Amino acid sequence: MLASRYTATLASSSFRMTRRISIPHIQLTRHYLSYSSRNKSTVALSSDETIEEYRCTVPSNTHTRNPIPDFNDARVTYENKSTIELLRAAACFQSCKFPLLVENAESLLRTSRTIFGGTIIDAILKATIYGHFCAGEDQDRIRPVMQRLENSGIGSILDYAAENDDGDSTEQPITDQAMVTAREYDYESEAHCDKHVSTFLQCINDVASMGGGGANENHGYAAIKITALGNPKLLARLSTAIVEAKRLFAAFDQNGNGLLSREDFEAGYNRFFVDGDVRIKEIFEEFDPHETGYIDYITWSMMLSPQDLPKIIKSCQAAGRLSTACPTEEEIELLDAMYERGLKLGKEAAKSGVRLLIDAEQVRYQPAIDNLVLGLQRQFNVGGDKPIIYNTYQCYLRDSPERLRTDVERSERFNYHFGAKLVRGAYMESERELATSLNQPDPIHPTIEETHKCYNDSVDYLLRHSTESDLNVEVMCATHNQTSIVHAIESMNLFGIDRSASTICFAQLYGMSDQLTFNLGKHGYRSFKYVPYGEVDEVMPYLLRRARENSAIVGGATIELDMITAELGRRFQVLS
Ligand SMILES: Cc1cc2nc3c(=O)[nH]c(=O)nc-3n(C[C@H](O)[C@H](O)[C@H](O)COP(=O)(O)OP(=O)(O)OC[C@H]3O[C@@H](n4cnc5c(N)ncnc54)[C@H](O)[C@@H]3O)c2cc1C
Repeated sequence: MLASRYTATLASSSFRMTRRISIPHIQLTRHYLSYSSRNKSTVALSSDETIEEYRCTVPSNTHTRNPIPDFNDARVTYENKSTIELLRAAACFQSCKFPLLVENAESLLRTSRTIFGGTIIDAILKATIYGHFCAGEDQDRIRPVMQRLENSGIGSILDYAAENDDGDSTEQPITDQAMVTAREYDYESEAHCDKHVSTFLQCINDVASMGGGGANENHGYAAIKITALGNPKLLARLSTAIVEAKRLFAAFDQNGNGLLSREDFEAGYNRFFVDGDVRIKEIFEEFDPHETGYIDYITWSMMLSPQDLPKIIKSCQAAGRLSTACPTEEEIELLDAMYERGLKLGKEAAKSGVRLLIDAEQVRYQPAIDNLVLGLQRQFNVGGDKPIIYNTYQCYLRDSPERLRTDVERSERFNYHFGAKLVRGAYMESERELATSLNQPDPIHPTIEETHKCYNDSVDYLLRHSTESDLNVEVMCATHNQTSIVHAIESMNLFGIDRSASTICFAQLYGMSDQLTFNLGKHGYRSFKYVPYGEVDEVMPYLLRRARENSAIVGGATIELDMITAELGRRFQVLS
């Protein structure tokens, strides 16, 4: 009966984390005290504040004037491109304009492979779309590409881009057709995951050997996807367990103030667990090491590791959603192996000084991904002078501002440097389809304007926070949206952040939006290309997903196509 009451409580109380959660002033930890003595707030933007309100608080003595580059400067954009490359780029962008072709590209490719054979089709792809958007099959082939970018002042972010082609997958789609477009790494075996780790280690070493970890350290980034390190199904299960653990916090927090006093904790514990008389004191003290008298969600989430759940649910009054979501012993072993893989990569990145960007993936995996990333950040973003581990925030998600604030606050409380890659999000269509099919609320902002606002506000928030924190805060604006880039530069000027500072950098995908990357690089901004690489048949699903899911990108490519056409016209005129 108690269990059904628990289930009912959870079902009726949608978990609310919309406020900033903080420990009350009198209970500040040592770090908080030193922070408050600087009279600076950890969190710049509450949900109802806007950038206009920050602007009032910006010191008037900031004189930084970072110029806005001329993004139409075709000479700078294409000076390192041959005419053949421009013709190929024009053909690629032109073909992206045919929705029928983009929509059916995968089946077309499969059929062509069957008819003409892999070798011929691979050769055609290498000369066309693969050649334009991808740097090569392996490290040896991508080195010259990285060097060429480096010569133009552009850094490389190596991104091993193999994705599962659903047609050949050994995994069944988890629920429905929506999964087909929202891809992940194909899980074949644990050995396959170990192979991914070796590839990623090589990738980190390559970045380091290009000067990424040394004197030219601002140019050192590698990107990975966590779905490559373990079974995505396990990530989905773990994510459910983490969400249920969050719900448990909400169920304990009866007055909804985001804080559990000793009394709240005691009442909550006794409602759901059987051993309150012997365990409450011990657990509360463990969760509240600084004796603040309160537990908030940050501490709760740090203390309640998913690996601890089987132990915890043993004393549940009765089985409920938490018990159902709880991983089995066997799953915990696999999870440990996945965490171990992440740890290995974190260690290598820290050793060579290469920043490791963890890509954001689908909502159903993200809580588990975040959990792993937070652990790595706590371990590898301490000491030194920069964050080694970056998490990615998808600003199309309604809950991304809250997640960002909570993670920033967590980094302040646990004293580690904070690194964030800001994107809008690549899985909009499939997320929406999935939410509809599961009868769940749409996790994505209802309009693109709200996504744009969320993106720009997040940039402002992090830039401001970087000026206030004693720790190093770094943000990568990973976007093809020129307006957002201009907004970020204006915000840098507002907060007095110079373009050469490690606080902010910009990144676009290889083969796209060169007018942004190269003009930013030319004007002294820290500018990067996300450089995908991998075998042709492994990378093609990634490329086609990019083309299909990001119809906005394809639309944006019109500007590029016009610029390329104009540049080709200019070159042919010179020749004639
Ligand atoms: C360097 C780099 C790294 C990236 N890494 C990741 C990653 O780790 N994870 C990931 O998910 N994506 C990643 N992306 C892709 C990114 O999330 C976007 O899909 C892509 O860049 C398009 O967004 P934009 O900001 O460039 O441009 P824009 O063209 O301005 O915005 C298009 C985006 O707006 C959003 N949008 C479109 N229509 C609507 C609507 N009706 N309502 C609400 N929102 C809408 C969608 O997110 C869409 O992709 C990365 C992109 C880059 C450049």
